[in-house]
Amino acid sequence: MKIGIPKEIGARERRVAVVPDQVKQLKAAKAEVLVEAGAGSGLYLPDRAYEEAGAAIARDAAALYAEADVVLKIQPPLENAALRKHEADLVRGGGVLVCMLRPFSNLDVVRALAERRVTSFSMDLVPRTTRAQRMDALSSMGTAAGYKAVLLAAEHSPRFFPMLVTAAGTIPPSRLLVIGAGVAGLQAIATARRLGAVVEAYDIRPAVKEEVESLGATFVGPTLSAEETQDAQGYAKALSPEKQKEGMEKLRARLKVADAVITTARVPGLPAPKLIPAEAVAEMKPGSIIVDLAADMGGNCALTEAGAEVVRHDVTILGPVRLAGTLPVHASMMYSRNITALVLLMVKDGALNLDFNDDILAGSCITHDGKIMHAATRERIESASAAPAR
Ligand code: NAD
Repeated sequence: MKIGIPKEIGARERRVAVVPDQVKQLKAAKAEVLVEAGAGSGLYLPDRAYEEAGAAIARDAAALYAEADVVLKIQPPLENAALRKHEADLVRGGGVLVCMLRPFSNLDVVRALAERRVTSFSMDLVPRTTRAQRMDALSSMGTAAGYKAVLLAAEHSPRFFPMLVTAAGTIPPSRLLVIGAGVAGLQAIATARRLGAVVEAYDIRPAVKEEVESLGATFVGPTLSAEETQDAQGYAKALSPEKQKEGMEKLRARLKVADAVITTARVPGLPAPKLIPAEAVAEMKPGSIIVDLAADMGGNCALTEAGAEVVRHDVTILGPVRLAGTLPVHASMMYSRNITALVLLMVKDGALNLDFNDDILAGSCITHDGKIMHAATRERIESASAAPAR
Protein backbone atom coordinates (compact mmCIF):
# COMPACT_ATOMS: atom_id res chain seq x y z
CA MET A 1 0.00 0.00 0.00
CA LYS A 2 1.44 3.29 -1.12
CA ILE A 3 0.40 6.46 0.72
CA GLY A 4 0.84 9.72 -1.21
CA ILE A 5 1.20 13.21 0.28
CA PRO A 6 0.83 15.92 -2.37
CA LYS A 7 1.82 19.56 -2.03
CA GLU A 8 -1.29 21.58 -1.12
CA ILE A 9 -2.33 23.87 -3.97
CA GLY A 10 -4.89 26.17 -2.29
CA ALA A 11 -4.12 29.90 -2.36
CA ARG A 12 -1.82 30.90 0.52
CA GLU A 13 -1.98 27.33 1.88
CA ARG A 14 1.30 26.54 3.61
CA ARG A 15 0.33 23.45 5.59
CA VAL A 16 1.04 19.84 4.66
CA ALA A 17 -1.08 16.82 5.62
CA VAL A 18 1.72 14.66 7.07
CA VAL A 19 5.06 15.66 8.64
CA PRO A 20 8.12 13.37 8.90
CA ASP A 21 7.34 12.07 12.43
CA GLN A 22 4.14 10.48 11.11
CA VAL A 23 5.90 9.19 7.97
CA LYS A 24 7.87 7.07 10.44
CA GLN A 25 4.62 5.82 12.01
CA LEU A 26 3.16 4.92 8.62
CA LYS A 27 6.38 3.13 7.67
CA ALA A 28 6.25 1.22 10.97
CA ALA A 29 2.78 0.03 9.88
CA LYS A 30 4.52 -1.34 6.74
CA ALA A 31 3.03 1.22 4.34
CA GLU A 32 5.15 2.86 1.65
CA VAL A 33 5.10 6.65 1.71
CA LEU A 34 5.52 8.94 -1.29
CA VAL A 35 5.77 12.72 -0.86
CA GLU A 36 5.57 15.31 -3.63
CA ALA A 37 8.77 17.37 -3.96
CA GLY A 38 8.39 20.64 -2.06
CA ALA A 39 5.29 19.47 -0.13
CA GLY A 40 6.75 20.74 3.16
CA SER A 41 8.31 23.94 1.84
CA GLY A 42 5.58 26.20 3.32
CA LEU A 43 6.66 25.11 6.80
CA TYR A 44 10.40 24.94 6.13
CA LEU A 45 10.52 21.14 5.82
CA PRO A 46 12.97 20.11 3.09
CA ASP A 47 12.43 16.95 1.02
CA ARG A 48 15.50 15.58 2.78
CA ALA A 49 13.59 15.51 6.12
CA TYR A 50 10.96 13.28 4.51
CA GLU A 51 13.60 11.05 2.92
CA GLU A 52 15.34 10.65 6.28
CA ALA A 53 11.99 9.54 7.75
CA GLY A 54 11.77 6.84 5.06
CA ALA A 55 9.61 8.47 2.35
CA ALA A 56 10.31 8.46 -1.37
CA ILE A 57 9.99 11.79 -3.22
CA ALA A 58 7.75 12.11 -6.30
CA ARG A 59 9.05 14.78 -8.68
CA ASP A 60 5.59 16.36 -9.23
CA ALA A 61 1.86 15.95 -8.59
CA ALA A 62 1.32 13.84 -11.74
CA ALA A 63 3.92 11.31 -10.59
CA LEU A 64 2.51 11.24 -7.06
CA TYR A 65 -1.14 10.73 -8.02
CA ALA A 66 -0.20 8.08 -10.61
CA GLU A 67 1.41 5.91 -7.94
CA ALA A 68 -0.49 6.55 -4.70
CA ASP A 69 -3.19 4.13 -3.53
CA VAL A 70 -4.16 6.43 -0.66
CA VAL A 71 -3.86 10.23 -0.91
CA LEU A 72 -3.68 12.35 2.27
CA LYS A 73 -4.48 16.05 1.97
CA ILE A 74 -5.75 18.98 3.95
CA GLN A 75 -7.86 20.97 1.48
CA PRO A 76 -10.70 19.40 -0.51
CA PRO A 77 -9.72 18.58 -4.12
CA LEU A 78 -9.11 21.71 -6.21
CA GLU A 79 -8.23 22.45 -9.82
CA ASN A 80 -4.49 21.87 -10.37
CA ALA A 81 -3.64 24.71 -12.75
CA ALA A 82 -0.20 23.31 -13.65
CA LEU A 83 -1.66 19.95 -14.73
CA ARG A 84 -4.94 21.45 -15.98
CA LYS A 85 -6.74 18.73 -14.08
CA HIS A 86 -8.93 18.64 -11.02
CA GLU A 87 -7.43 16.82 -8.05
CA ALA A 88 -10.64 14.76 -7.82
CA ASP A 89 -9.73 13.37 -11.25
CA LEU A 90 -6.10 12.83 -10.32
CA VAL A 91 -6.80 10.39 -7.45
CA ARG A 92 -6.64 6.90 -8.90
CA GLY A 93 -10.01 5.34 -9.74
CA GLY A 94 -10.72 2.89 -6.90
CA GLY A 95 -8.15 4.66 -4.70
CA VAL A 96 -8.63 6.34 -1.32
CA LEU A 97 -8.65 10.06 -0.49
CA VAL A 98 -8.62 11.50 3.05
CA CYS A 99 -8.91 15.28 3.56
CA MET A 100 -11.09 18.03 5.06
CA LEU A 101 -13.62 17.34 2.31
CA ARG A 102 -16.42 19.54 3.73
CA PRO A 103 -18.89 17.61 1.56
CA PHE A 104 -21.87 19.97 1.99
CA SER A 105 -19.84 22.78 0.41
CA ASN A 106 -18.35 20.52 -2.28
CA LEU A 107 -21.23 18.50 -3.70
CA ASP A 108 -19.74 18.46 -7.24
CA VAL A 109 -16.46 17.08 -5.93
CA VAL A 110 -18.33 14.36 -4.00
CA ARG A 111 -20.25 13.41 -7.17
CA ALA A 112 -16.99 13.22 -9.15
CA LEU A 113 -15.32 11.05 -6.48
CA ALA A 114 -18.29 8.66 -6.44
CA GLU A 115 -18.32 8.40 -10.23
CA ARG A 116 -14.62 7.52 -10.21
CA ARG A 117 -15.21 4.96 -7.43
CA VAL A 118 -12.81 6.75 -5.11
CA THR A 119 -13.27 5.88 -1.44
CA SER A 120 -13.21 9.22 0.37
CA PHE A 121 -13.10 10.11 4.06
CA SER A 122 -13.74 13.58 5.44
CA MET A 123 -11.65 14.60 8.44
CA ASP A 124 -14.32 17.13 9.41
CA LEU A 125 -16.88 14.34 9.84
CA VAL A 126 -14.89 12.12 12.17
CA PRO A 127 -17.33 11.52 15.06
CA ARG A 128 -16.56 13.67 18.15
CA THR A 129 -16.28 10.63 20.43
CA THR A 130 -13.69 9.89 23.10
CA ARG A 131 -12.12 7.13 20.97
CA ALA A 132 -11.82 9.48 17.99
CA GLN A 133 -10.27 12.36 19.94
CA ARG A 134 -6.81 11.74 18.47
CA MET A 135 -8.32 12.15 14.99
CA ASP A 136 -10.22 15.35 15.75
CA ALA A 137 -8.80 17.74 13.16
CA LEU A 138 -11.68 20.19 13.68
CA SER A 139 -10.54 20.69 17.26
CA SER A 140 -6.89 21.05 16.18
CA MET A 141 -7.71 23.67 13.55
CA GLY A 142 -10.22 25.38 15.89
CA THR A 143 -7.52 25.67 18.53
CA ALA A 144 -5.11 27.30 16.07
CA ALA A 145 -7.78 29.64 14.69
CA GLY A 146 -9.02 30.71 18.15
CA TYR A 147 -5.49 31.59 19.24
CA LYS A 148 -4.66 33.50 16.07
CA ALA A 149 -7.98 35.39 16.07
CA VAL A 150 -7.03 37.05 19.37
CA LEU A 151 -3.63 38.05 18.02
CA LEU A 152 -5.34 39.59 14.98
CA ALA A 153 -7.75 41.48 17.23
CA ALA A 154 -4.87 42.78 19.36
CA GLU A 155 -2.90 43.79 16.29
CA HIS A 156 -5.81 45.75 14.82
CA SER A 157 -6.96 47.27 18.10
CA PRO A 158 -6.02 50.88 18.86
CA ARG A 159 -5.94 49.91 22.56
CA PHE A 160 -3.74 47.82 24.87
CA PHE A 161 -5.27 44.49 25.90
CA PRO A 162 -3.77 44.33 29.44
CA MET A 163 -4.22 46.79 32.26
CA LEU A 164 -1.05 48.86 32.56
CA VAL A 165 0.07 50.80 35.58
CA THR A 166 2.58 53.33 34.29
CA ALA A 167 4.15 56.65 35.23
CA ALA A 168 1.64 58.18 32.82
CA GLY A 169 -1.22 56.74 34.80
CA THR A 170 -3.28 53.56 34.74
CA ILE A 171 -4.59 52.18 31.47
CA PRO A 172 -7.73 50.03 31.87
CA PRO A 173 -7.74 46.57 30.25
CA SER A 174 -9.61 45.92 27.00
CA ARG A 175 -12.93 44.10 27.20
CA LEU A 176 -13.11 41.14 24.84
CA LEU A 177 -16.35 39.32 24.01
CA VAL A 178 -16.18 35.76 22.65
CA ILE A 179 -19.33 34.54 20.90
CA GLY A 180 -19.48 30.74 20.59
CA ALA A 181 -17.44 29.06 23.32
CA GLY A 182 -16.64 25.81 21.48
CA VAL A 183 -13.08 24.69 20.78
CA ALA A 184 -12.01 27.90 18.95
CA GLY A 185 -13.86 30.15 21.39
CA LEU A 186 -12.33 28.53 24.46
CA GLN A 187 -8.84 28.89 22.99
CA ALA A 188 -9.63 32.54 22.20
CA ILE A 189 -10.68 33.07 25.83
CA ALA A 190 -7.47 31.46 27.14
CA THR A 191 -5.29 33.52 24.78
CA ALA A 192 -7.05 36.81 25.55
CA ARG A 193 -6.75 36.13 29.29
CA ARG A 194 -3.00 35.56 28.84
CA LEU A 195 -2.84 38.96 27.16
CA GLY A 196 -4.59 40.47 30.17
CA ALA A 197 -7.98 41.34 28.64
CA VAL A 198 -11.21 41.15 30.62
CA VAL A 199 -13.19 38.44 28.82
CA GLU A 200 -16.89 37.67 28.51
CA ALA A 201 -18.28 34.71 26.60
CA TYR A 202 -21.67 34.10 25.05
CA ASP A 203 -23.01 30.73 23.90
CA ILE A 204 -26.41 29.10 23.76
CA ARG A 205 -25.25 25.76 25.22
CA PRO A 206 -25.47 25.85 29.01
CA ALA A 207 -22.76 23.16 29.22
CA VAL A 208 -20.04 25.69 28.35
CA LYS A 209 -20.65 28.00 31.35
CA GLU A 210 -18.35 26.02 33.62
CA GLU A 211 -15.57 25.78 31.00
CA VAL A 212 -15.78 29.53 30.37
CA GLU A 213 -15.56 30.31 34.07
CA SER A 214 -12.66 27.91 34.61
CA LEU A 215 -10.68 30.01 32.11
CA GLY A 216 -11.32 33.19 34.08
CA ALA A 217 -14.04 34.65 31.82
CA THR A 218 -17.63 35.61 32.64
CA PHE A 219 -20.48 33.71 30.98
CA VAL A 220 -23.08 36.10 29.56
CA GLY A 221 -25.25 33.65 27.57
CA PRO A 222 -29.01 33.18 27.94
CA THR A 223 -30.40 30.58 30.33
CA LEU A 224 -31.53 27.77 28.03
CA SER A 225 -31.83 24.04 28.63
CA ALA A 226 -29.46 21.47 27.10
CA GLU A 227 -32.44 19.85 25.27
CA GLU A 228 -33.37 23.00 23.36
CA THR A 229 -29.79 23.93 22.47
CA GLN A 230 -27.72 20.84 21.68
CA ASP A 231 -27.90 17.56 19.81
CA ALA A 232 -26.75 14.08 20.88
CA GLN A 233 -23.15 14.81 19.77
CA GLY A 234 -22.92 17.97 21.91
CA TYR A 235 -23.21 20.32 18.90
CA ALA A 236 -25.49 23.36 18.92
CA LYS A 237 -28.90 23.13 17.24
CA ALA A 238 -30.59 25.98 15.38
CA LEU A 239 -32.66 27.89 17.97
CA SER A 240 -36.37 28.72 17.71
CA PRO A 241 -36.91 32.38 16.63
CA GLU A 242 -38.21 33.29 20.16
CA LYS A 243 -35.18 31.79 21.92
CA GLN A 244 -32.85 33.38 19.38
CA LYS A 245 -34.45 36.81 20.07
CA GLU A 246 -34.09 36.40 23.84
CA GLY A 247 -30.38 35.64 23.49
CA MET A 248 -29.79 38.41 20.96
CA GLU A 249 -31.09 41.09 23.34
CA LYS A 250 -28.57 40.00 25.95
CA LEU A 251 -25.82 39.89 23.38
CA ARG A 252 -26.59 43.36 22.04
CA ALA A 253 -25.95 44.89 25.48
CA ARG A 254 -22.56 43.16 25.74
CA LEU A 255 -21.52 44.21 22.22
CA LYS A 256 -21.94 47.89 23.16
CA VAL A 257 -19.21 47.70 25.80
CA ALA A 258 -16.71 45.40 24.01
CA ASP A 259 -13.39 46.64 22.61
CA ALA A 260 -12.95 43.44 20.60
CA VAL A 261 -15.24 40.57 19.59
CA ILE A 262 -14.18 37.10 18.47
CA THR A 263 -17.16 35.29 17.02
CA THR A 264 -17.09 31.56 16.25
CA ALA A 265 -20.74 30.40 16.36
CA ARG A 266 -21.60 27.55 14.01
CA VAL A 267 -24.33 24.98 13.60
CA PRO A 268 -23.05 21.92 11.66
CA GLY A 269 -24.30 21.74 8.09
CA LEU A 270 -26.12 25.10 8.20
CA PRO A 271 -25.10 28.69 7.40
CA ALA A 272 -23.62 30.43 10.46
CA PRO A 273 -26.26 32.10 12.69
CA LYS A 274 -26.40 35.87 12.17
CA LEU A 275 -25.80 37.22 15.66
CA ILE A 276 -24.44 40.73 15.00
CA PRO A 277 -26.79 42.70 12.74
CA ALA A 278 -25.60 45.90 11.06
CA GLU A 279 -27.48 48.01 13.67
CA ALA A 280 -25.54 46.32 16.48
CA VAL A 281 -22.24 47.19 14.75
CA ALA A 282 -23.39 50.83 14.56
CA GLU A 283 -23.88 50.81 18.35
CA MET A 284 -20.37 49.46 19.08
CA LYS A 285 -17.50 51.58 20.38
CA PRO A 286 -15.57 53.41 17.64
CA GLY A 287 -12.25 51.64 17.09
CA SER A 288 -13.51 48.26 18.23
CA ILE A 289 -12.69 45.09 16.32
CA ILE A 290 -14.71 42.07 15.20
CA VAL A 291 -12.87 38.90 14.11
CA ASP A 292 -15.50 36.66 12.51
CA LEU A 293 -14.28 33.04 12.45
CA ALA A 294 -17.57 31.92 10.89
CA ALA A 295 -16.83 34.00 7.75
CA ASP A 296 -16.50 30.87 5.58
CA MET A 297 -20.07 29.87 6.49
CA GLY A 298 -21.59 33.29 5.80
CA GLY A 299 -20.36 34.99 8.99
CA ASN A 300 -21.94 35.71 12.39
CA CYS A 301 -21.85 39.44 11.60
CA ALA A 302 -24.07 40.80 8.83
CA LEU A 303 -21.26 43.09 7.61
CA THR A 304 -18.48 40.48 7.42
CA GLU A 305 -16.83 39.90 4.06
CA ALA A 306 -15.11 36.51 3.86
CA GLY A 307 -11.37 36.81 3.39
CA ALA A 308 -11.43 40.60 3.74
CA GLU A 309 -10.99 43.42 6.24
CA VAL A 310 -13.64 46.14 6.17
CA VAL A 311 -14.36 49.18 8.34
CA ARG A 312 -18.05 49.91 9.01
CA HIS A 313 -19.34 52.47 11.51
CA ASP A 314 -15.72 52.88 12.73
CA VAL A 315 -15.57 49.17 13.59
CA THR A 316 -12.90 47.02 11.88
CA ILE A 317 -14.41 43.69 10.80
CA LEU A 318 -12.07 40.86 9.81
CA GLY A 319 -13.41 37.75 8.04
CA PRO A 320 -10.36 35.47 7.92
CA VAL A 321 -10.72 32.09 6.23
CA ARG A 322 -8.36 29.16 6.88
CA LEU A 323 -6.77 31.01 9.79
CA ALA A 324 -5.12 27.80 11.03
CA GLY A 325 -3.12 27.89 7.80
CA THR A 326 -1.27 30.97 9.08
CA LEU A 327 0.39 28.75 11.71
CA PRO A 328 1.63 26.12 9.25
CA VAL A 329 4.27 24.53 11.49
CA HIS A 330 2.06 23.66 14.44
CA ALA A 331 -1.19 23.31 12.48
CA SER A 332 0.51 20.72 10.21
CA MET A 333 1.99 18.93 13.21
CA MET A 334 -1.46 18.60 14.79
CA TYR A 335 -3.26 17.66 11.56
CA SER A 336 -0.55 15.12 10.75
CA ARG A 337 -1.20 13.35 14.07
CA ASN A 338 -4.96 13.46 13.49
CA ILE A 339 -4.96 12.13 9.92
CA THR A 340 -2.35 9.46 10.65
CA ALA A 341 -4.38 8.14 13.58
CA LEU A 342 -7.35 7.77 11.19
CA VAL A 343 -5.28 6.16 8.44
CA LEU A 344 -3.78 3.65 10.86
CA LEU A 345 -7.35 2.35 11.38
CA MET A 346 -7.34 1.43 7.67
CA VAL A 347 -4.02 -0.43 7.53
CA LYS A 348 -3.40 -4.04 8.45
CA ASP A 349 -0.05 -5.72 7.77
CA GLY A 350 0.86 -2.97 5.32
CA ALA A 351 -2.32 -3.49 3.26
CA LEU A 352 -5.54 -1.49 3.00
CA ASN A 353 -8.20 -2.97 5.25
CA LEU A 354 -11.42 -0.94 5.38
CA ASP A 355 -13.64 -2.16 8.20
CA PHE A 356 -16.92 -0.28 7.95
CA ASN A 357 -18.09 -1.85 11.20
CA ASP A 358 -15.75 0.67 12.82
CA ASP A 359 -17.95 3.66 13.72
CA ILE A 360 -15.13 6.13 13.02
CA LEU A 361 -14.54 4.88 9.47
CA ALA A 362 -18.27 4.46 8.80
CA GLY A 363 -19.05 7.96 10.15
CA SER A 364 -16.38 9.77 8.15
CA CYS A 365 -16.71 7.85 4.85
CA ILE A 366 -18.30 10.00 2.12
CA THR A 367 -17.99 7.84 -1.01
CA HIS A 368 -17.20 4.15 -1.54
CA ASP A 369 -17.63 1.71 -4.38
CA GLY A 370 -19.43 4.27 -6.57
CA LYS A 371 -21.94 5.17 -3.84
CA ILE A 372 -22.39 8.20 -1.60
CA MET A 373 -22.23 6.61 1.83
CA HIS A 374 -22.80 9.70 3.98
CA ALA A 375 -26.59 9.99 4.31
CA ALA A 376 -26.82 13.78 4.84
CA THR A 377 -24.55 14.44 1.83
CA ARG A 378 -26.56 12.00 -0.31
CA GLU A 379 -29.79 13.79 0.62
CA ARG A 380 -28.31 17.16 -0.32
CA ILE A 381 -27.09 15.83 -3.66
CA GLU A 382 -30.47 14.26 -4.38
CA SER A 383 -32.39 17.41 -3.49
CA ALA A 384 -29.94 19.55 -5.53
CA SER A 385 -30.54 17.33 -8.60
CA ALA A 386 -34.32 17.31 -8.00
CA ALA A 387 -34.49 21.14 -7.78
CA PRO A 388 -35.88 22.71 -10.99
CA ALA A 389 -33.27 24.47 -13.16
CA ARG A 390 -33.38 28.24 -12.71
P1 NAD B 1 -18.76 24.53 16.39
O1 NAD B 1 -17.54 25.05 15.71
O2 NAD B 1 -19.79 23.78 15.62
O3 NAD B 1 -19.53 25.78 17.10
C1 NAD B 1 -18.83 26.73 17.87
C2 NAD B 1 -19.72 27.19 19.02
O4 NAD B 1 -20.79 28.00 18.52
C3 NAD B 1 -20.36 26.09 19.83
O5 NAD B 1 -19.95 26.18 21.18
C4 NAD B 1 -21.86 26.35 19.68
O6 NAD B 1 -22.61 26.04 20.85
C5 NAD B 1 -21.88 27.84 19.39
N1 NAD B 1 -23.15 28.32 18.79
C6 NAD B 1 -23.90 27.77 17.81
N2 NAD B 1 -24.99 28.52 17.55
C7 NAD B 1 -24.92 29.61 18.38
C8 NAD B 1 -25.77 30.74 18.59
N3 NAD B 1 -26.90 30.92 17.90
N4 NAD B 1 -25.38 31.64 19.53
C9 NAD B 1 -24.23 31.46 20.24
N5 NAD B 1 -23.40 30.41 20.08
C10 NAD B 1 -23.74 29.49 19.17
O7 NAD B 1 -18.39 23.64 17.63
P2 NAD B 1 -16.99 23.00 18.10
O8 NAD B 1 -16.21 24.03 18.76
O9 NAD B 1 -16.34 22.27 16.97
O10 NAD B 1 -17.52 21.93 19.14
C11 NAD B 1 -18.62 22.20 19.95
C12 NAD B 1 -18.73 21.15 21.04
O11 NAD B 1 -18.63 19.82 20.52
C13 NAD B 1 -17.62 21.22 22.05
O12 NAD B 1 -17.65 22.28 22.91
C14 NAD B 1 -17.85 19.86 22.70
O13 NAD B 1 -18.95 19.87 23.55
C15 NAD B 1 -18.14 19.00 21.51
N6 NAD B 1 -16.87 18.33 21.16
C16 NAD B 1 -16.67 17.07 21.64
C17 NAD B 1 -15.47 16.44 21.39
C18 NAD B 1 -15.20 15.06 21.90
O14 NAD B 1 -15.94 14.56 22.70
N7 NAD B 1 -14.17 14.43 21.43
C19 NAD B 1 -14.49 17.05 20.62
C20 NAD B 1 -14.73 18.34 20.16
C21 NAD B 1 -15.93 18.95 20.41
